[in-house]
Amino acid sequence: MSQQPTTDMNFSAPERHQPRLYTDLFTPNETQQIRAEVRAFADKYVAPVAWDIGHREESVEHFPRVLFKKMADAGLFRIPFATPVGGRGLQYPAAATAVLIEELAYYSNSVAAIVDVHCILAGHALEHASPELQQRYLAPLLTGSKIGSFATTEPEASTDLNVKVMETHAQGGAEGYIINGRKRFITNAPVADFVVLLTEHDGRMTEIVVDLDTPGVTVGQPDKKMGNHGQLTADLYFDNVRIPSSNVVGIPGSGLRIALQTLTYGRIGIAASGVGMAQAVFDHGVHRLKTRKAFGKHLGQFQHWQFKWAEYATAIENSRNLYLKAALRMDAGESFPEPDAAMAKWYATNLASDIARDGVQVFGGYGFMRELAADGSHYRVEEVYRDCKISEIYEGTNEIQKLVIARNIFGKDITG
Ligand SMILES: Cc1cc2nc3c(=O)[nH]c(=O)nc-3n(C[C@H](O)[C@H](O)[C@H](O)COP(=O)(O)OP(=O)(O)OC[C@H]3O[C@@H](n4cnc5c(N)ncnc54)[C@H](O)[C@@H]3O)c2cc1C
Repeated sequence: MSQQPTTDMNFSAPERHQPRLYTDLFTPNETQQIRAEVRAFADKYVAPVAWDIGHREESVEHFPRVLFKKMADAGLFRIPFATPVGGRGLQYPAAATAVLIEELAYYSNSVAAIVDVHCILAGHALEHASPELQQRYLAPLLTGSKIGSFATTEPEASTDLNVKVMETHAQGGAEGYIINGRKRFITNAPVADFVVLLTEHDGRMTEIVVDLDTPGVTVGQPDKKMGNHGQLTADLYFDNVRIPSSNVVGIPGSGLRIALQTLTYGRIGIAASGVGMAQAVFDHGVHRLKTRKAFGKHLGQFQHWQFKWAEYATAIENSRNLYLKAALRMDAGESFPEPDAAMAKWYATNLASDIARDGVQVFGGYGFMRELAADGSHYRVEEVYRDCKISEIYEGTNEIQKLVIARNIFGKDITG
């Protein structure tokens, strides 16, 4: 029985500072309109249930299905895609998708992560698939009638996605494939209908779509995590799983390129989620600094905090510009908009962690509370403090982003 999140009786939205401090000079009008649309949706449907989503233990029953359906019905999953598969056919789909993720992460990084994996990872990987495969998997992903997942990580192959150490193998060819192996940490897996799976095949990598109810597939129990509690992850096991050759995405052997290109897009999404979390802490922080008093003054009257928040306003501006620039390069047809995507990812997620730490500090002991027993109050900074850490790790760790940037500086013959 699905247990949907309850409405947060303590919810109160702080004043938004993004429209005042951030000038949308470089943002296409179309993207600004998407921001307004998604913000109105998030204000109405995500904000009231976000705290509950972020504080319940991971379980299939706790997956926010009702909200997922509302997002589908509002057409949010159509934003990234072209019209032939039912998408909105926007001129700047990557920019719009990044803004979608930022606006969701403002209230809930769990919800942003669910959508990032559903639309950007599973969905974008399927843009490399045949029209027939897209009709079977991408079209229902857009309407929300199927939930997608995307799997590259394995217990022994993750940051180092080396074909020699991969343990998920596909054997066969035109007559069909038999898959054996195991994946780890797969977002949405406990509730997903299918996975876009990276396999070793004939010494190279191939992406294959696998329905999760196929005989031989086992989905593990949801992992218990530090944060992002609404985002469910699990191991996937494959035991002699038979898949038709028509389920191959692209051509056999092209899996690594598809995976890396998809993860580059994903990085832009994760950068946007970092900006969303940072902006939330910033806004809550301003309110607290203007209202909480110590030594007969408002905290905001101490120059220490004025300068900190001036630095964060600048860093948020830089982060948003970086992810938008990477996304617009992608919209202009570049599959690997580097070094911008890597810069955006490490910078924005590093910022989210920095401001989350200072955000808890601004709130003092209240910022450390999950819930204050005296009155049931709670503060967004505590949740962001737990949620932001994973954004420095998934979809390419921040060390790998710096390696990508360093390669652009020194060349591969020096950096390796
Ligand atoms: C909540 C969550 C959701 C996830 N969702 C998915 C998903 O949907 N699909 C999926 O496929 N995977 C998913 N992942 C996996 C995620 O992408 C990996 O955890 C991540 O890529 C890092 O791999 P690892 O955890 O094995 O760390 P490791 O690869 O063991 O790395 C450990 C550390 O070593 C560092 N390191 C490695 N190589 C170098 C180097 N050359 N120089 C410097 N430092 C280095 C890394 O940066 C990292 O800090 C998810 C993980 C989590 C926790």
